[in-house]
Amino acid sequence: MNSPSNIRRDISIKIDNKKQMDMKDMFKASSGFSRTRTRTGYADTLEQLRKEFYERWEKNNPSSADGLKNFERTTTLGTGSFGRVYLVQHTQTKAYYAMKVIDKIRIIKLKQVEHTLYEKKILESAKFPFLVSLEYSFKDNSYIYLLMPFVNGGEMFTHLRKAHKFDESLSKFYAAQVLLALEFLHYCDVIYRDLKPENILIDIKGYLKIADMGFCKIVKGRTWTLCGTPEYIAPEIILSKGYGKAVDWWSYGVLLFEMSAGFPPFTSNDPMKVYEKIISCKYKPPPFFTVDLTDLIKSLLQIDLSRRFGNLRSGTTDIKGHRWFHHTNFEGIYNRQIEPPFKPKIKNPGDTSNFDDHPDTELRISQHNLFEDQFESF
Ligand code: AMP
Repeated sequence: MNSPSNIRRDISIKIDNKKQMDMKDMFKASSGFSRTRTRTGYADTLEQLRKEFYERWEKNNPSSADGLKNFERTTTLGTGSFGRVYLVQHTQTKAYYAMKVIDKIRIIKLKQVEHTLYEKKILESAKFPFLVSLEYSFKDNSYIYLLMPFVNGGEMFTHLRKAHKFDESLSKFYAAQVLLALEFLHYCDVIYRDLKPENILIDIKGYLKIADMGFCKIVKGRTWTLCGTPEYIAPEIILSKGYGKAVDWWSYGVLLFEMSAGFPPFTSNDPMKVYEKIISCKYKPPPFFTVDLTDLIKSLLQIDLSRRFGNLRSGTTDIKGHRWFHHTNFEGIYNRQIEPPFKPKIKNPGDTSNFDDHPDTELRISQHNLFEDQFESF
């Protein structure tokens, strides 16, 4: 492998070149969206999930100011673009949570106030079996805290690098869950924008939870923010053309490739070269890929949006109905009834052995409430 793909792609880029719409406008824009489609059982489920998403989205749940005292902090689980995630234990219930701590000063410096509020609102509104969701949130003089259930099997990235590559049956099991999660988000008019194995966690049973909603955005139509992780970015983002939900289907094609190959399709030590390969769609599937997998990836890694699967008239039906998914029971997977092909080894509920070690850092809480006004609605 001639790529830097063993290095965790921690830093996702995000450069705003267009101001995001006001929250209320975004809700108005999306709630007026009419849907005329033939109903099946799952279409009804999606409609109900969307309704619940927007009911939660409309509510404003300001975070409490004194939540931290109820939790005991242990170790660092990971670091993200704008915060550090710690394992914490509730002092009374003894339940474990992943606590994302976001430094207000850093958020102000990087002009990410609106995006951080967005992350909180998406985490609290999007309830789906394969997405992490918010359990508690609080804030103090220096930080914002977002608490999610601890998904203790670790990142897909770690398991993939350990195994080198997944069998297609395992890739397919994971791909089906990611497909359902993206389908749900898109049905709520949310683009995810940062799909990669580092953001996918494996739970104790072997099912997935997609983490990090930091780049999610409600979009009806097009948006322009340059964001994502170089290897996973769609060509229309690089070309600054304005883009929509189809970018997630491109990243999905990259994920399908990386899970079964062990490395992503477009790689180089130089991000500019990665972008060149992406915009010319230059990649080579390994000879051990089945014909069906190669064909599905080809249908997703389409520069031409009018040919990219997921973005066509029949939406996700093209992907679900593809030969590669021929024997996949999506309903069984949605209901978590299928036996996962792989279960992570977990000794106890607070076991962090599936996570990398990170040097610990102290939380320094200021005597003064920093940027109180800017973070009022958190
Ligand atoms: P994020 O900033 O959300 O990308 O999180 C950074 C890292 O923290 C992730 O890549 C995971 O390793 C870890 N992490 C985030 N959320 C959770 C969770 N709910 N359970 C376990 N680990 C998590």
